[in-house]
Amino acid sequence: MEVVIIGGGPAGMIAGITAAKEGNKVTILEKMNTLGRKLLITGKGRCNITSSLDISEFINNVPGNGKFLYSVFQKYTNKDILKLLNENGVATKVERGNRVFPVSDKSQDVLNALIKELNKNKVKIITKARVYEICTENRKIVSVKYIDECNNETKLRADKVILATGGKSYPLTGSTGDGYEMAKKLGHTITKIMPSLVPLECRNEDLELCKSMQGLSLKNVGMKLVNLQNSKIIYEDFGELLFTHFGVSGPTILSSSAHLLRYKNIDNLLKSGQVKLQIDLKPALDFEKLNARVLRDFEKEKNKLFKNSLDELLPKKLIKPIIKLSKINPDKQVNSITKKEREELIELIKNFTITIAGFRPIEEAIITSGGVDIKEINPKTMESKIIKNLYFAGEIIDVDAYTGGFNLQIAYSTGYVAGKLYE
Ligand SMILES: Cc1cc2nc3c(=O)[nH]c(=O)nc-3n(C[C@H](O)[C@H](O)[C@H](O)COP(=O)(O)OP(=O)(O)OC[C@H]3O[C@@H](n4cnc5c(N)ncnc54)[C@H](O)[C@@H]3O)c2cc1C
Repeated sequence: MEVVIIGGGPAGMIAGITAAKEGNKVTILEKMNTLGRKLLITGKGRCNITSSLDISEFINNVPGNGKFLYSVFQKYTNKDILKLLNENGVATKVERGNRVFPVSDKSQDVLNALIKELNKNKVKIITKARVYEICTENRKIVSVKYIDECNNETKLRADKVILATGGKSYPLTGSTGDGYEMAKKLGHTITKIMPSLVPLECRNEDLELCKSMQGLSLKNVGMKLVNLQNSKIIYEDFGELLFTHFGVSGPTILSSSAHLLRYKNIDNLLKSGQVKLQIDLKPALDFEKLNARVLRDFEKEKNKLFKNSLDELLPKKLIKPIIKLSKINPDKQVNSITKKEREELIELIKNFTITIAGFRPIEEAIITSGGVDIKEINPKTMESKIIKNLYFAGEIIDVDAYTGGFNLQIAYSTGYVAGKLYE
């Protein structure tokens, strides 16, 4: 069988390896000049390959249609991808949060291993080939058309096509959403495309505040996104948070975005300023303990001015904003700060609040939420329910996971299943 794979990301590469091992003649068409451009930037260039959690726990880490992946996660697990990489010279290690990385800390090594395996299995790779049409006859695949680097149009016969063009984020890596258009033309539904695992923008009134702390990364803070309309917590986490010129980013914020985008009536809540980020800057100390700590500090610094008294308590970039928000006169001597003022200061440190305006654009998202409707894909085979011999793999499908290696595992597992032959 002639198998044509559109897109040479991790999903397309695993699909290619699998289809070739099944005895097919396989071609990968990739529009960029190399395979796996996005893979190279994963994990800040270190590639968080997968998670070391038991595969049964993966679905819990896929807020976007996780159940659809039940069968594929069983068929190709984290152990399978690590075995394949090990066989091709990539040793791996497990870090905090069950995250698996190459020992070398180089995503390039992961990519090289996959390319080595593709070559071993004689998969033909055509780069700089942008596919623009999947041709069908009687709802069955017959060929694909692509434009090569010299702008020539070529038609390639295909008995089976695996569409693995990824999502829409980080378009410079090649993932520009072409696959959505091709799938749509063939009758597929594309669900709402949204950025996920994406930084959050603050509202105008807090912009100067965030800008003034730009670059400040807080390692161990508590954070909550709260719906002010009903005082309910939308998302709560503990860990790292980063201030930027537009608002906030960092692991806790990225994870929170996956919840926020699914929250009922979120557009209206954001528009009306009803979503607050509350940061507990000292989560290890409750109000009483922090009060005692501040009292001790103030005792030590009693003859200093308030503006010079917080150096031991807070990171440098936070001091000015906290002083400003506290409404205590910065030039007031510490020993004249009242109990009420001190308690309000502590409340501020435990409850540092920023109003959220919305998401950064999809171009800056780690992952795309939305895509080819899962109702139109057979979850056991990844075959389209609309077009015979059309398969889907990876981020193009309407599934999305948290950070931690789960998104790449989705690419491998769906790629593997899409590449298999089914009678
Ligand atoms: C900054 C960043 C960091 C990330 N870090 C991690 C991480 O550490 N761990 C993790 O699990 N996930 C991570 N992810 C998510 C992960 O990269 C994706 O889930 C994964 O790459 C999806 O694989 P894919 O093969 O489906 O799509 P992609 O990797 O997007 O590959 C799709 C390919 O299709 C090609 N293509 C598109 N259109 C056409 C066309 N018309 N013709 C031919 N080719 C085409 C593209 O050029 C691209 O090479 C990260 C994402 C980003 C943006």
